[in-house]
Amino acid sequence: MADRISKVGVVGAGQMGAGIAHVAALAGYDVTLHDVSKERTAAGLERMAAALDRQLASQKITEAERAEALGRIRTATDPAALAGLDLVIEAATEDETVKRKIYRDICPHLSKTAILASNTSSISITRLASATDRPERFMGIHFMNPVPVMKLVELVRGIATDDATFESAKQFVTALDKTITVSEDFPAFIVNRILLPMINEAIYTLYEGVGSVESIDTAMRLGANHPMGPLQLADFIGLDTCLSIMQVLYDGLADSKYRPCPLLVKYVEAGWLGRKTGRGFYDYRGEHPVPTR
Ligand code: NAD
Repeated sequence: MADRISKVGVVGAGQMGAGIAHVAALAGYDVTLHDVSKERTAAGLERMAAALDRQLASQKITEAERAEALGRIRTATDPAALAGLDLVIEAATEDETVKRKIYRDICPHLSKTAILASNTSSISITRLASATDRPERFMGIHFMNPVPVMKLVELVRGIATDDATFESAKQFVTALDKTITVSEDFPAFIVNRILLPMINEAIYTLYEGVGSVESIDTAMRLGANHPMGPLQLADFIGLDTCLSIMQVLYDGLADSKYRPCPLLVKYVEAGWLGRKTGRGFYDYRGEHPVPTR
């Protein structure tokens, strides 16, 4: 039997955490949004309010729905605030050490029956589960970016995930009006297993001088009918996240075809992480994005 979920926690108030909090609150769940500092949770709330404003402006939601959703969110920096919740979704930085530390810190505070999920884009759910006190109540709930817009959620079971946990997650995601796809627990699951090597190849195409940022993005927008060019999409995802997904594919599948492009590594080392830091393959600090190469 699946447990009914009503109170949800989100750990990590970045672009994904704020988006998950947004859709959960709009669907009527009480949400606790947790991050390491008040500045981070405030930034997450601000991001969420701006996204709700856009939905209001395009008449996707009403003023009352906007206000109710904001009223259902509370923020926290103390893991003790996650006590008594039914489902906690970890959406922190894509770094296994960070995620393991979070599970160590929060598990003692969670109720025994709480489900813990990770929004990881690529890391093994089975391995992450082993760092928790509840592998049978742990799984991957992988939202796409931007969460309020994208219809798909990938569900990933670890080797120990029990049926009740999987059913509860399915009910929760369905209540958010999202479409589910189920992936086996292999590096980067389905979407990113296919998407990230394409983005990495676009970066190699730039690195080898086959085309400029603009020509590569135009080629894929107009030549393959992609809504966004691959370099624009990489900036949107975050270049640090792109690099760590490629590293997970490279390490996990031990195949040189997943070798991260050195130019991607260089951008990350420069702190040019894409939109979230104002610069990546494009510079976003002016009125319009300008290619950086
Ligand atoms: P982000 O950098 O925007 O946000 C990460 C947040 O985690 C930051 O606010 C950071 O302060 C917080 N954090 C770090 N350590 C923490 C801790 N110990 N406790 C609480 N919070 C902590 O990253 P993001 O793009 O939102 O990605 C978050 C997760 O979602 C990653 O696992 C990523 O792979 C996954 N994801 C990202 C995308 C995408 O397109 N960016 C899409 C799907 C899934």
